[in-house]
Amino acid sequence: MTGKLCIFSAPSGSGKSTIVQHLIKLAPDLAFSISATSRKPRKDELEGRDYYFISPDKFREKIRENAFLEWEEVYPEQYYGTLRTEVERIWKEGKHALFDIDVVGGLNLKREFGDKACAIFIQPPSLEILEQRLRSRGADDEISLRKRLDKASAELQYASRFDYIVVNDRLEHALSDAERIVRNFLKK
Ligand code: 5GP
Repeated sequence: MTGKLCIFSAPSGSGKSTIVQHLIKLAPDLAFSISATSRKPRKDELEGRDYYFISPDKFREKIRENAFLEWEEVYPEQYYGTLRTEVERIWKEGKHALFDIDVVGGLNLKREFGDKACAIFIQPPSLEILEQRLRSRGADDEISLRKRLDKASAELQYASRFDYIVVNDRLEHALSDAERIVRNFLKK
């Protein structure tokens, strides 16, 4: 049995993860696609729940084995990718896969799966508001904040290539928009 793919992509700080977690709680036929990464786990993250954490060498080995549906070096020496076995696992359970991946990865999956995939871009209301949100989150020093903002402004250029854009101005509106888009797509 093969299921579908619901792909959420956005610059960091756009509220993408909140939306994805909301949908997972709501829809029992959706399962979160756990990515592999070579970055170190953060303190509240768990192996096999948030990511499969592997070393950069192991990651490169898997790239050579063609184990990934898509992968990227999102930051230097920090690889992220979707394992083929992960999506197969979800489909075998009779579920659809829900992705929280970066913009280029999202578009790569869309290109590969076409109508079986729905690609949704979560857009912050503006770069200024994104900067305020990232600053108030307080997780970054000035250099990595700049890095995130540069990446965000590049990523915003890709928004129009997605099937849908959800502007995350008020979270409750963004949640209900995302829910409606996903429900309609899964019904088709
Ligand atoms: P973080 O380190 O904050 O968890 O994630 C950094 C970025 O990598 C985010 O934009 C996240 O969506 C993206 N990302 C997570 N998993 C994947 C993946 O499997 N493939 C790609 N291309 N990006 C991913």
